[in-house]
Amino acid sequence: MTYRLVEIFESMQGEGRNTGRPCIFVRFAGCNLACPWCDTDVTERFRLSLEELMGEVRGFRPKSVVLTGGEPTLVEGMPELVAALKSEGYWTAVETNGTADPDWLGFVDYVACSPKQEFADRIVLSHADEVRVVASSAAAVGFCRGIRGKITATDYYVSPCDHDGEIDFATAKEVLSRLDGWSLSVQLHKILGFR
Ligand code: SF4
Repeated sequence: MTYRLVEIFESMQGEGRNTGRPCIFVRFAGCNLACPWCDTDVTERFRLSLEELMGEVRGFRPKSVVLTGGEPTLVEGMPELVAALKSEGYWTAVETNGTADPDWLGFVDYVACSPKQEFADRIVLSHADEVRVVASSAAAVGFCRGIRGKITATDYYVSPCDHDGEIDFATAKEVLSRLDGWSLSVQLHKILGFR
């Protein structure tokens, strides 16, 4: 089994409930969506076996691992990877667009879902720890209300949209003012300039 990867790096979680938590980010290549504003490079850079990947993870200090992409729920060999991480005491999180709901998600410690308004009809995930929606326009209000009925989560967040480095707090504020039970999630890594 080999994993197709973009990058593995140490940083802090920049969004949502775990903001500020030191984590190892494992970014898998490939995504099943093509969001027009996507700024994540999901091109495969290298491949690693399970043992090689675990070896890379052990080389960093944090004991928290974020499995991200791309779309990690579509990656083969995830049950084995999650089991290996758990057996060595790592806290595990997954960042997903919500278009798949594999059984192994039940074994990770934290599921963060960022559903995309442009692909609303492809969302199948029904439960997450947190949901984050990017407020790209006032139309996000209706999308957020629909998502709240579809995905059960502990926390619901609206994130400001980033237009070429300009963070649009005004639209996020407008969207939040029309929703109950949603909070702002700033993308701390963009504000403070870490990755
Ligand atoms: S789901 Fe995420 S990684 Fe995939 S195209 Fe959309 S923004 Fe990019």
